Amino acid sequence: MNAIIFGAPGSGKGTYASRLKSRLDVEVIAMGDIFRENLKEDTSLGRKVKGYVEKGLLVPDEIVIDVLKQHLAKIPKEKGFILDGYPRTIEQAMTLEKIVKIDVILLQLVPDWIIVERLSSRRICQSCGAVYNIRFIKPIVDNICDKCGGLLYQRSDDKPEVIKRRIKVYEEQTSPILRHYKEKTTPFVVSSITALDTSPETVVDTIIKELEKIKLA
Ligand code: ADP
Ligand code: ZN
Repeated sequence: MNAIIFGAPGSGKGTYASRLKSRLDVEVIAMGDIFRENLKEDTSLGRKVKGYVEKGLLVPDEIVIDVLKQHLAKIPKEKGFILDGYPRTIEQAMTLEKIVKIDVILLQLVPDWIIVERLSSRRICQSCGAVYNIRFIKPIVDNICDKCGGLLYQRSDDKPEVIKRRIKVYEEQTSPILRHYKEKTTPFVVSSITALDTSPETVVDTIIKELEKIKLA
């Protein structure tokens, strides 16, 4: 199964993708994680993308497309994958089409008020990138990653002004891609959340059931 997990910032893409990865034995390419890793290591890619990421703007297509190609090339032929954070522009979607076939779009629909609540209480593990939420998905020990013992931090783009910019960028530049996939009749699995306390497991179980129905899991 080759899937794109799609949704606004804070819609839970990364959280669900990491759980689907172990349940379905697929690879995940998470564009934001790749950029954050490079920022942390201060690589030349990190230095190129820093200004965009910190302002909540899209990194230019030619940089992103290059990174995607490098990471896709590392995935064994027989293994499926989930793309998280790619494509974010029509140009990125067009390029993807030339390289691989996408079987399904996993669309996350979440009201704005939930997004703002979630993002402002989100914390990330400095070492392994695991995602927590100090209100809803708490680590066992405050500020410490359950998986690796790393310290948790708040993303610099999870500040209220930057969150607003990211939501706007999503609405203007990224959500039009959905129309493109609908026209191509790519199957959609849609998860709609209306409560703040819906657990990731509930969402992931439903996604897997739906994928089984269309013989992709
Ligand atoms: P979100 O929580 O907003 O979904 P991500 O972790 O996926 O955030 O991405 C963080 C930032 O990295 C984005 O705001 C953007 O600056 C950059 N970025 C990630 N993926 C892409 C992409 N496909 N094209 C351009 N910029 C991207
Ligand atoms: Zn960790």
